[in-house]
This record gives sequence, structure tokens and C-alpha cells, in this order.
Amino acid sequence: MAAKERTLSIIKPDATRRNLTGKINARFEDNGLRIIAQKRLWLTEEQAKKFYDVHKDRPFYGELVNFMISGPVVVQVLEGDDAVALNRKVMGATNLANADEGTIRKDFAESIEANSVHGSDSLDNAAREIRFFFSETEVVG
Ligand code: GDP
Repeated sequence: MAAKERTLSIIKPDATRRNLTGKINARFEDNGLRIIAQKRLWLTEEQAKKFYDVHKDRPFYGELVNFMISGPVVVQVLEGDDAVALNRKVMGATNLANADEGTIRKDFAESIEANSVHGSDSLDNAAREIRFFFSETEVVG
């Protein structure tokens, strides 16, 4: 039986700029993911650097941080059966050139960087990333 999981999602600045929050949220809901917590934030440079700390040695780290603070984001907790893997499937591949038809990134991404959404890549990272943005009382299920 599939396990009920929670994962962290971020609607990135390229998508909020183009007013796509509702369209992207519909993709989650249509695919069986429940948005159980959500808030719109403008990340500080310090927050973005800390969130993407795992990528600090990659050549695109500086650009990625600058992109993530270029406009508001919507951070959210998604819940559902196998939510971590399911969300990665709904999102599509990092590079839209490799993303499957019907995925968020295939339909909305502008580039490999401005790819509209973030989603946790493991259950452990999901728990860590949810804690980064939400307190226990903000996630009501
Ligand atoms: P994800 O888990 O699919 O989001 O991909 P990664 O963890 O590998 O990368 C994190 C984020 O960094 C991606 O979602 C993109 O926004 C950005 N990114 C990944 N690869 C590149 C790249 O080659 N160039 C640039 N500029 N950004 C990238």
C-alpha cells in the first residue's frame, strides 16, 4: 500500500511573475496532492542561500540564489500517497527539454533555471525543507 507522505513545494519567481499560482496548484490537486499549507514569501538572500546550501559548490549556485530572490515565491506543503515521488512526476524533469508531456515544467518552465517549481527529492529532505519554512502549527493537514 502506498504511504501517505508530505513534501515541500515552491512555486518559483518565474511562475508567480506570470500569475501561474492557480494553474500550478490545479496540477497538484488534479493529481491527488493536497495543499495542506501555503504562503507567499519574498525570500531574503540569506534564506535562499541557506535553502540551496546543498548546491553551494555547483557552478550555478550564485545564479540560482539570485533567481530565487528575483520575485515572490509560494511555499507549500503537499500531502498524498507517495507525495515525494508523485510530486516529482507531476513537476517533470529539471530541464524542460527532458520533461514529459503534461508536466508542470514541460508546460510552464522558461529555462533549466527558471523552471517554475521546486519539489523535495527525498522524504528526509522533505521533512527538513518543511521545517525550514513552516512551524508545526502552520501545517494543519
Ligand atoms: P531539481 O531537484 O529538479 O529542482 O534540480 P536540482 O536539485 O538539480 O537543481 C536545483 C535547481 O537549480 C533547479 O530546479 C534549477 O532551478 C537550477 N538548476 C539546475 N541545473 C541548472 C543549470 O545547469 N543552470 C542553472 N542556471 N540552473 C540550474
